[in-house]
Amino acid sequence: MVPMIARVEPLTTARALRGPFDYRLREEQHDAGVGALLRIPFAGRTALGVIVGLSDSSEIVPERLAEPDAVLPGGIPADLVELATWMAAEYCSTPARALGLMLAPGAAQGTRSREVLVAELAHDPSDGADGAERLTDRQRAILERLRREGPIAASAIGTDALRRLERRGLVTLERRAQRRRPGQATVGSASAVAPPLTDDQQAVLGEVLGAVARPSRLDGAGPGGILLHGVTGSGKTEVYLRAVEATLAAGRSAIVLVPEIGLTPQALGRFEARFGDVVAVLHSALGQGERYDEWVRLRSGEARVCVGPRSAVFAPLADIGLIVVDEEHDASYKHEGDPRYDARTVALRRAQQHGAALLCGSATPRPESVASQRRLRLPRRVDGRPLPPVEVLDMRGQHHPLHPRTRMALADVRRGGRKAIVLLNRRGWSNFLSCRACGHAWMCPNCEVALVLHQAGFVACHHCGHREPLPERCRSCGSAALARHGAGTQRVEHDLRAALGDGGFPVFRLDADIAGGKDRAGLTLAQFEAADAGVLVGTQMVAKGHDFPDVTLGVVLDADQTLRFPDFRAEERTFALITQLAGRAGRGDAGGTVLVQTLAPEARSIEHAARHDADAFLSEELGRRQALGYPPFGSLIRIVCSAEDAGEAASLAKELHDRISVPGAAVLGPAPLFRLRGRSRSQLVIKATDRPGAIAAVGAAVEGLAAGASRRRVSISVDVDPQ
Ligand SMILES: [Zn+2]
Ligand SMILES: [Zn+2]
Repeated sequence: MVPMIARVEPLTTARALRGPFDYRLREEQHDAGVGALLRIPFAGRTALGVIVGLSDSSEIVPERLAEPDAVLPGGIPADLVELATWMAAEYCSTPARALGLMLAPGAAQGTRSREVLVAELAHDPSDGADGAERLTDRQRAILERLRREGPIAASAIGTDALRRLERRGLVTLERRAQRRRPGQATVGSASAVAPPLTDDQQAVLGEVLGAVARPSRLDGAGPGGILLHGVTGSGKTEVYLRAVEATLAAGRSAIVLVPEIGLTPQALGRFEARFGDVVAVLHSALGQGERYDEWVRLRSGEARVCVGPRSAVFAPLADIGLIVVDEEHDASYKHEGDPRYDARTVALRRAQQHGAALLCGSATPRPESVASQRRLRLPRRVDGRPLPPVEVLDMRGQHHPLHPRTRMALADVRRGGRKAIVLLNRRGWSNFLSCRACGHAWMCPNCEVALVLHQAGFVACHHCGHREPLPERCRSCGSAALARHGAGTQRVEHDLRAALGDGGFPVFRLDADIAGGKDRAGLTLAQFEAADAGVLVGTQMVAKGHDFPDVTLGVVLDADQTLRFPDFRAEERTFALITQLAGRAGRGDAGGTVLVQTLAPEARSIEHAARHDADAFLSEELGRRQALGYPPFGSLIRIVCSAEDAGEAASLAKELHDRISVPGAAVLGPAPLFRLRGRSRSQLVIKATDRPGAIAAVGAAVEGLAAGASRRRVSISVDVDPQ
């Protein structure tokens, strides 16, 4: 008999250890295919591994090959193995790390389906069952309940009583998998009935359905799929819903990616209301058991639509006909762990694998998407209301954190019993603390950044989480005169409450400090929605795609804050933030206004956002990027070497620099970065027009130095297309 050889990728995180390795499958393991999850003996211990290929021969004598200990549940379909291999190369990572992202949630930790004992009527006693007259009243009641309600979990009735009925042949007891159901979305009231489409939506939908119906012609829809560029409130979600409906009708499945479900529960609610149980949800606020069960429903084909954040791009669906990326500009589509994948790029790859249509949508699309995708427009809001006027308020020379015009507008909102949203992209109370006498500033001991003052009486590092109590005196000169600089969301919440908060006008806050707990963000949004009037203050979380019709005022504080980051995306982010916040205002009969406070009123991104002029912004931004060789006109790869020893980090970065050579590419650095979590960091940036060539060169250089780096305790992180 020919031994069956499995090529197995062990799921280890070590970069220096490269699989796959051959294992000999025992006869009862022969139906384990590509993608199966195994428990294997590996390097003297037990590890998990995934089959990435099958063969009938090996370079090693079969008798000397180890056998897997077991085939485990939670393995993945073969197309995801292929996707993982591609991802490992595309993001200069390892197949093991990429595969680790795709397994059933919790499979590696042993999560399984939950089985419960279910009781069912074997025999209807009312049909003249033998011995029915010898039943007790309780037994009769149990049988009656089973007859009325159908199969019931045994624990709901009492196992002992059921066992007695089972022995008499009246009841059957059987172990069955029981689905752990995620709760339903809580914000907004979604309807199962599709609203009529506007002419704009109708026209766009026709094009989208054409792409769904001709999946093999993805190229015809532009190499990067379709970009639905629609202003806020233009009904993009209804287009997604109709496209998903058509995909299901064609017998295929669909993935819908959304930025953060906790902040956009309305979108999820609409999919559940329209399609019911055929929708599965994968997101981190669910318990592991719930996520596992949702994953199994997708794998088995019971669910055919997956809605979720970036990791839902790995949903184990067969025959995908459509992948939707909602709010495609959102930074959360980029994964911060290794591999540092971009779910939008992975979505395109997966669409090509399956012959699926890719549909991305946004009111503020990325310049990259505008350049590579076929753009369809929804230029008007579905309700026919105009976008709210935006006033830019010059804060130069202003000493109060709120401009007089902002204070007046907020007072009007309160008087009118309406709602306002105030955005300040900085949490905490004050952004730093210094001594008035000697100038000493409170810095994080682990990172070279200022500690942020929080209302609860501590200072904290927003990078590593370090906390210490609020100092009473300066530790260098002993002075008790401490200055607090800048305002964060807590301070603004406090000031607004002092100015407006009495008389039943509530002030809510939404930022990462309150959103820590499971679904706290959703709860705050639900409270704001349910309130008759009030203000919601928060970080960029308040500008996500929720829809509250009674918001008449939007305020952006310190709008140029995002412009001060040394990042080529600073302009794009600032434009998106203002436009998205403006999109939350004026959706109801009362109309709306947006106020933008800034020290840089003439900044391009702010001026264009104030005029709702996305086209002018995009064309200028593309021109600027072309001149500088930034995406989409070139690719960036960022490599960070970090170590406790600053010298080791810098010297490894220098060695990498010398090994990377790509024609026409610039290798910038090494440049020191601020210390983070107690580690010194050194950075290289590769700017290249030959993307595959640059990725290959970086991958080879990193692999060549991996063993030496781990010996010298330097970790290397590679970020292709950094955010
Ligand atoms: Zn001092
Ligand atoms: Zn820190």
